[in-house]
Amino acid sequence: MSTILEVKDLKKYFKVGAGTLHAVDGVDFAIEEGKTLGVVGESGCGKSTLGRVILHLLDNTGGRILYKGEDITNVDRKKLSALRKEMQMVFQDPFSSLNPRMTVYQTIAEPMQIAGGYSKAEIEKRVGEMMDTVGLAERFVNSYPHELDGGRRQRIGIARALVLNPKFVVCDEPVSALDVSIQAQVLNLMLDIQEQMGLTYIFITHDLSVVKYISNDILVMYLGQMVEKAPSEELFKNRLHPYTKALISAVPVPDIDHKRDRIRLKGELTSPIDPKPGCRFAARCMYAKPECFARDPEIREVLPGHFVRCHFVDEINGL
Ligand code: SF4
Repeated sequence: MSTILEVKDLKKYFKVGAGTLHAVDGVDFAIEEGKTLGVVGESGCGKSTLGRVILHLLDNTGGRILYKGEDITNVDRKKLSALRKEMQMVFQDPFSSLNPRMTVYQTIAEPMQIAGGYSKAEIEKRVGEMMDTVGLAERFVNSYPHELDGGRRQRIGIARALVLNPKFVVCDEPVSALDVSIQAQVLNLMLDIQEQMGLTYIFITHDLSVVKYISNDILVMYLGQMVEKAPSEELFKNRLHPYTKALISAVPVPDIDHKRDRIRLKGELTSPIDPKPGCRFAARCMYAKPECFARDPEIREVLPGHFVRCHFVDEINGL
């Protein structure tokens, strides 16, 4: 299995008034081909910005992006349009990401028309194949988004993202706008397609129960920084960062004999604009000590393959 994407010290800052918002602040990871990296955190933690920077929908402020070993951090238009075929995105809200004036056929066909080089017959054939792959019946080919339910609209979004046969897909909260009953169907569909097409996913979500189901590795973000990263099973069994502990404690457990004690986060969210030195989670952390407010913790490998950003991770977890 080879590494398809590597991100090194990736940063994205935005000017906000007189200050600088550190939306993504030094994120590192690598993904193997055919695997899924789940990126989780509360809204505003920088996870969607991270996905957009990787796909060049936003410029980065620092760091590097390597795709199949090649540095693609700064690429010209020609290279970017080649990359767009290989790297795609599925958006959160299928209703607002689809053009209401375009039919299912037009929506799925459009990326092929923009890329160019395909005959009308090739486009028709491919649109039919994609509708089949995502489970959209042929009778919807001339329907408009408002005529379809949320699940079918998201299937159009997925078909459109996959029509150029990409290798790598960033899925930004792809099921959170859907009814719970439809979420599992769409997740299963995405897993089936991943296997069929050998896709690699970055799966961005605030919902840990979803990410556990779909990811090989999980990266937890807090205010632009990666605070914990580990294989999915290991993270759920052995969460080590105080923020991850709180997030996982809030995930409902179906077994009433094994209730989790929910850790309720108190304290104010630190501002991501010109952040002060110190741990960004300190104001909400039940283990915080004076040192936490004075010095930035480094991310380090605490157990094999398990990375944590906390000064006192060993003490807190009895390691
Ligand atoms: Fe909590 Fe301190 Fe660890 Fe930050 S460094 S997570 S404040 S114990």
